[in-house]
Amino acid sequence: MAHSSKAFKGDKKMYEQNFYNLEYNELKKHLSEFNLSEKAASMRANQIWKFVYKKGVGNPDNFINLPLELINKIKTKIDFNKISIEEKKASRDGTIKWLFKLNDGNLIETVYIPFGKTGTLCVSSQVGCTLNCKFCHTGTQMIVKNLETTEIIQQVLLAKDELTDWSKEKKIRNIVYMGMGEPLYNFNNVKKSIEILKNVDGLEFGPKRITISTAGIVPEILSASKEIKTCLAVSLHAPTDEIREKIMPINKKYKLKALIDSCRKYAEMNKEKIFLEYVLLKDINDTKYCAQKLIKLMGGFPCKLNLIEFNVWPGAGFEPSSKEKVSEFYNTIKESGHVVTLRKSKGNDILGACGQLKTESKKISKKLDN
Ligand code: SF4
Repeated sequence: MAHSSKAFKGDKKMYEQNFYNLEYNELKKHLSEFNLSEKAASMRANQIWKFVYKKGVGNPDNFINLPLELINKIKTKIDFNKISIEEKKASRDGTIKWLFKLNDGNLIETVYIPFGKTGTLCVSSQVGCTLNCKFCHTGTQMIVKNLETTEIIQQVLLAKDELTDWSKEKKIRNIVYMGMGEPLYNFNNVKKSIEILKNVDGLEFGPKRITISTAGIVPEILSASKEIKTCLAVSLHAPTDEIREKIMPINKKYKLKALIDSCRKYAEMNKEKIFLEYVLLKDINDTKYCAQKLIKLMGGFPCKLNLIEFNVWPGAGFEPSSKEKVSEFYNTIKESGHVVTLRKSKGNDILGACGQLKTESKKISKKLDN
């Protein structure tokens, strides 16, 4: 495939720009610095953008209708190199998990979850995570760094290459920022990656096809409602401050009331219901009392609930709720009139399911962009 991670491998030369960090207008600006008129820069940017993001052609030598002189200039200034695939695992249920190696050696995970002929791609936004949610495998890995825009975009491109997903009938229909990391703690790079994903001359993911999942970073939820405007999922996992604080330390900083207020504002701005994620943990948050508290909380803003069966990982310290408890909890919410779905875990056999992603990258820097 044109986006092969092997392209230009071993070429350590320093470039002025990485292509996958550029928004469309930035690409145009760079091209105009190659002595092109504004009109020509615009036309060439459009051609290159379509090659890369519509056709999956990632090697400038294959930009067939561009003048050779321009291709050579582009090749010296703009880096089209890719991250590489370190490992790939396919689950019995069709879920695929890739372990990608970044150019700095860090490892991240990306998961494709099929639903029939199409599916959802779950991308990472950080290496590791600061938030240390007690039930989450990623949370046991110390934060290493925020991903750059290019590292987020390349997860999508490599997954499309792997799935041979460059025809009009897209396999990857939805993108969720639910892999490793808290996307709203990498706000600027996530925001820019979404601008690139949304571009109609390229990958063309509409805002309703992209979901950002947050553990509840209240100020950034409010910023995202104005600046990012995709669907929003909130990892709620408990209906009271007391329980939530035990399993999600972030709740000590941002209490449920403030979180729900920010969700209400987000829903008002974007005219979309908020997805609430709720992983059922035995004897922790799966009681009748919790279901009733949750019903009350859901009455406060437009939302739908996604119940998730807990995926056990080595050393987790939690157990999944019993089948009876899961269906009792589900039925209680459903009978109250709220929208609720029960997500069957996919990719369980390859640790590719929600809250199971973890790599062995070491902490190399405490300084993050945001
Ligand atoms: S659930 Fe999300 S926010 Fe919490 S530790 Fe895991 S990756 Fe981080």
